Amino acid sequence: MKVLCAWRLKEGKLALLGEKEPLGDPTGTYGACDYHRLQVKAQMPSVLSRLRDEAATAGAGALRPRDAAAVQRLFQALVRALARN
Ligand SMILES: [Zn+2]
Repeated sequence: MKVLCAWRLKEGKLALLGEKEPLGDPTGTYGACDYHRLQVKAQMPSVLSRLRDEAATAGAGALRPRDAAAVQRLFQALVRALARN
């Protein structure tokens, strides 16, 4: 199975990162190259900040603390998933 950098693919660049089991499986899976993994990690604080600002602009209750914590967990899970590829 081919592993492709989803960001490079979107940019129309060579995206093949390697292969993983099961070899010969014609379907692909997506990951991130070192460059894009670092980019996502670096953007996390500003994305979270922007979400907080948008919630504040939309009014109280638009993004409850529970939701904000869920968004943060989602980003952390994304970074962990990217680090595994
Ligand atoms: Zn990439």
